Parts: sequence; C-alpha cells; structure tokens
Amino acid sequence: MTTHTYARDLHETDTSVLGDSTSVENDGAVPRLRGRVRVEQIVLFAFIAIPFLALLAAVPLAWGWGLSWHDVVIATVMYAVAGHGITVGFHRYFTHGSFRAKRWLRVALAIAGSLAIEGPVIRWVADHRRHHAFSDREGDPHSPWRYGKTVPALVKGLWWAHTGWFFGTEETPRARYVPDLLADRDLRRIDAAFPALAAVSVLAPAVIGGLWSMSWQGAATAFFWGSLVRIGLLHHVTWSINSICHAIGERPFKSRDKSANVWWLAMLSMGESWHNLHHADPTCARHGVDPGQLDSSARTIWAFEKLGWAYDVRWPRRERVEARRCP
Ligand SMILES: [Zn+2]
Ligand SMILES: [Zn+2]
Repeated sequence: MTTHTYARDLHETDTSVLGDSTSVENDGAVPRLRGRVRVEQIVLFAFIAIPFLALLAAVPLAWGWGLSWHDVVIATVMYAVAGHGITVGFHRYFTHGSFRAKRWLRVALAIAGSLAIEGPVIRWVADHRRHHAFSDREGDPHSPWRYGKTVPALVKGLWWAHTGWFFGTEETPRARYVPDLLADRDLRRIDAAFPALAAVSVLAPAVIGGLWSMSWQGAATAFFWGSLVRIGLLHHVTWSINSICHAIGERPFKSRDKSANVWWLAMLSMGESWHNLHHADPTCARHGVDPGQLDSSARTIWAFEKLGWAYDVRWPRRERVEARRCP
C-alpha cells in the first residue's frame, strides 16, 4: 500500500470515529479564570521568547568577528532544506499522504528531513501518526495536557510535550502505524543511514564555511551558526508545534483536541503552526488555508506540482474547509 492511500485510510477511519467526540469535547469545556489564563500566557511567552531573544541579542555582538554573511547564508539554506524536509517530507507527505511524489523526490525528502536530526524518518512518522490517533488523550506521545489542567501541571506538560517525551522509553509499534513505510526499501535504507546523515548535517556547514572563506575561522563560525544554532532553533520550532500549538492560540476549526493556530510561529515553522486546521483536516496539503496565512511548505508543494515532481495534491476545497469551521 502506498503512503498516500495508507495515510488517507488511517485518517478517514479516524474522522468517523471522532465525529461525535468533538461535540462532547467542546460542550465539556469550562471557561477559565482570566487571571489564570494570563499566568499561562506569560509562562508560555517566557518559554519560547527568552532563548530566542538572547540569540537575537548575540547577533550584533558577534557581527564582524563571530558572524558573517557566509554564516547567515549557510544557516538559512540549511534551515530551509532540513525544515521543509520535515514539514513537506516527514509530515505532509510521509505521515499524511497529502500528495504523491516521484521516487527520487520521495528519497530526497526523506534525506532532507533526516538533516533536521529529529530522529530517523520511520520513527518520526510512527510517532506522529500516533499523535493524531490519540491527540491530547491517553496514548498521545506528546500532549502538554498529560499531567492535568492546572498551571503547574501545564508547565510540566509543556516541558514534556516540548522535549521531555523525546527522552522517554515508549516506542510506537511500527507494524501497526507505518506498514507502508516499512515495505519501502529506499526508506528502510535512509532510516538506517540516520546516524551518517546526522553527521553530514553537523559537519557540512563547517566544511562549506571553511572552503568558502578559505579560513579556519570561517569553518568555526559556520559550524556555530550553521550547525549548532540552526539545529537548535529548528528543534525548538518543531517542538513548539507539539507544545505551544496544543496549549494556546486560536481555534477557528472543529477538532477533538486542543490544537490551535499560532500566527507568530507561522514563518519559522514554515506554515505548520496553523495547527488547528491541520488537526481538523490532517491530509490537507495546505495548513494556512485562510487569506494572509503564511505557509511556505504549501508553496513548496505547489512548486513541486508545477514542476511535475508531485501530483494528486490534496489542496483545500472550500466546502470541506467550511464544513470544519466552528459556527
Ligand atoms: Zn498536533
Ligand atoms: Zn500531522
């Protein structure tokens, strides 16, 4: 069975099961105290903003001796390649079958996503399919609501959803969640080559930076910005989808979980932070379906389609989107 059909079957069974639980979930919600919401928002803001602001503050300090245009170009290109490898490849293509791809593109997407160092492709997809099957309920590998709804429980849960779950010992059963990927020899090879691909991702910026500037200094700064900062930032952004986008934000669409749209993460997350729409319609190739919603992953899929490399793309259809919108 291809990824496309398997993922679609998985979701279509899912939605039928979930139809009635949606209303229960919405009706069961109780209005929270305004003060508590405020505290939660401040904690969340600190959670993501402080490390990011510290990084931005380092830029002018380092400029000229510890950071150059070469480093900016290397880090940005590596971020975009590995990032879209995750969003377009691991997520929208391998997990959800939002489009079909030529074999070489399939291989290229699996390699590009591996460069993000978020684990081998088959495990990533298995965990993410399990997340959709149990989102914010028992069985979800990374729900921020795991420990309850009080502020301390949410803080602990956010940490769990963000990175803690990564260190856990739970293993998603592959035969149950990813039989389509296990049946593909190319993918099994790329999955097994993960340590080598991770090494390439860490070392390539230093090699490129060194050759470009013909200096050890150029290699060192490219390693710092193009490897350490780039990998760290992309990890935090990806994990923010699991933590932040399941805790705060707008919920214009019906979904049975706490998934939400968070506009200020849209650019860095390459469109993945329109996460409420994504849970409402998981196989849709575009997550930012409303006007003005940035989604560079959808734009990339659009370019692949125009070039003839991707086909059967599941673009949003107006009636389908409207049927999922909250009244
Ligand atoms: Zn989610
Ligand atoms: Zn998903």
